[in-house]
Amino acid sequence: MPSKVLPDAQAFAVFSERLKRRGFRKLSRTEFNKDFERLELIAPSSREGREVGFVFHANGLAVFVWTTFLAQESRARDKDAGWVLIKEGDEVKYFSHPLHRTKDFLHNLLGYARLAQLRVVNRPNCPECYARMDIVRGKGLKARYWKCDIPWEHKRAVSLPWDYGLPQAALDFLRLPRKRRAQYRAKLRAEGKEPGVALRHRKGWKVGRPENLVPMK
Ligand SMILES: [Zn+2]
Repeated sequence: MPSKVLPDAQAFAVFSERLKRRGFRKLSRTEFNKDFERLELIAPSSREGREVGFVFHANGLAVFVWTTFLAQESRARDKDAGWVLIKEGDEVKYFSHPLHRTKDFLHNLLGYARLAQLRVVNRPNCPECYARMDIVRGKGLKARYWKCDIPWEHKRAVSLPWDYGLPQAALDFLRLPRKRRAQYRAKLRAEGKEPGVALRHRKGWKVGRPENLVPMK
């Protein structure tokens, strides 16, 4: 396991600037608090401070980037990992693998933020009925694909691969980490272990007031 390197305030400022240049916006304290009150969010474990998050909206989807960096204290949280999520309303449709704070942390986080942004910007329309397609879970661990399932438009659901519409540079960015994960899973299987156990057991935030969730459509 590569050693932990927490980003300092200066590196974080450069990272923030890069995200903003790409159209992301820092979540305000009000937005952060509003969701907490509206949904009565309950954290998986006690967490110190308010974490800096960024958001980008397009085509009815939103990309959230969680940085592990604490707004007031101007330093990274000691125990944590970065995340990139794609949400529709309040529903998380996709979350990245946890991004660990190694020396390449901010570079990786920026890369995955940009990747999720490209997916959202390139959200495909159904080739048969032209409706916006939805993000749905595939069979594999963390697998996703695009689907349109409007019964009065076409009898059978129409689907497109998850990477549909991504530019070559984004596919190149994904190649190495995907290869590494495939090798890691093969190694676990060879040892008789089940891959993805940690992933499935990851505890999320609890919603205390589900009646206030924003419906997807
Ligand atoms: Zn359709």
